Amino acid sequence: MKNIAILGSTGSIGTQTLDVVREHPDELCVVALAAGKNKDRLREQILEFRPRVVSLDDEEAASRLKKELAGTPVEILSGKDGLMAAAGIDEADIVVTAVVGMMGILPTMEAIRKGKDIALANKETLVTAGHLIIPMAEQYGVKILPVDSEHSAIFQCLHGNRHEDVDRLLITASGGPFRGKTAEDLEQVTLQDALKHPNWAMGQKITIDSSTMVNKGLEVMEAHWLFGVDYDRIQVVVQPQSIIHSMVQFVDGAVLAQLGTPDMRVPIEYALFYPERRSLSGDRLDFNTLTGIQFEKPDTGVFRGLALALEAGKTGGSMPTVFNAANERAVALFLKEKIRYTDIVRIIGTCMDKHTLIPDPRLHEILETERWVYHTIEKMDIGL
Ligand code: NDP
Repeated sequence: MKNIAILGSTGSIGTQTLDVVREHPDELCVVALAAGKNKDRLREQILEFRPRVVSLDDEEAASRLKKELAGTPVEILSGKDGLMAAAGIDEADIVVTAVVGMMGILPTMEAIRKGKDIALANKETLVTAGHLIIPMAEQYGVKILPVDSEHSAIFQCLHGNRHEDVDRLLITASGGPFRGKTAEDLEQVTLQDALKHPNWAMGQKITIDSSTMVNKGLEVMEAHWLFGVDYDRIQVVVQPQSIIHSMVQFVDGAVLAQLGTPDMRVPIEYALFYPERRSLSGDRLDFNTLTGIQFEKPDTGVFRGLALALEAGKTGGSMPTVFNAANERAVALFLKEKIRYTDIVRIIGTCMDKHTLIPDPRLHEILETERWVYHTIEKMDIGL
């Protein structure tokens, strides 16, 4: 039996992780769940999976939940302390990090410190603090297992191969709902347009990130830290059908790819059972009906967010934090319809231009940089 804790259990990755648990009730046991404010969904999860500890960020919602579940053995915590307690719970073997944004850094570090393997969905943690997280995982002897479908694909292709034999990583991208559009077209995009992803159903923030291709930029930085490969040897390839989840080219020219239907439960399950595989219900690729797989070069002239991400990654130091924090805040503003779609990337670019680089930021400097970005955005002349 493997004991798992899920941070962000009420979200897209969290609920799909619980779907995987439902498929393997004799092998996976949920010991802790943490969420933000969705009390009702968390209550359903508690009644179904019987974790020992749960946490809600929202204090009021947590106290209402306590009243509703009085008499049941679950321990209900709240706020940042509750999230940290769920991340470091003694009984867990593996912690699924599926919260959104760089708020995932501290609980991820807590889980590593407590010796837990990490099934990592929360890419923003590696983007901003990869230089701290990866050595820390080595120091504590824990595995960082990718959940992002592209990174899981690369991880699967690398299995059994030597690191020195890798020539380049080929990260595939669907291109999002605005593939083929011009910069002028993007000026007209509404919130409703941006929330429609052609192939994947995901949380709101990553759906917007996919539409701007900022998500692909975050994934390049995530891959850099996960696989220890230089930026010059990580290439983004647009593959609109989302059938090839990513590829690795080796020094002899051989390219290995991982294919499948777009289903996040596959990489989640792979991370939970690594290095073994388990059966999983769901659609399979049908090569009798599949008519073709198309490839394109990404248009970094139109999708400036991808170009800025690559620049931030190559610059290193605190710049990926600036890129990420500016994007997080700008996307939150766009989701509240306070700014226009194209302002997202404009805001990221302005913050990067204004920033004085910290070459090798410690944790407190990463968090200070995040605050600096928020303050800088507040003072911007964007009608806030
Ligand atoms: P969602 O928005 O669907 O879910 C986010 C989860 O985090 C929810 O459970 C939410 O709780 C919880 N949460 C928010 N704030 C807090 C807080 N302060 N404390 C504790 N929990 C909190 O996001 P996704 O599942 O889409 O994405 C999660 C991560 O996985 C992101 O980093 C994303 O980039 C990555 N990812 C997602 C993929 C996908 O297919 N969705 C694919 C690959 C990576 P509540 O709802 O209760 O407020």
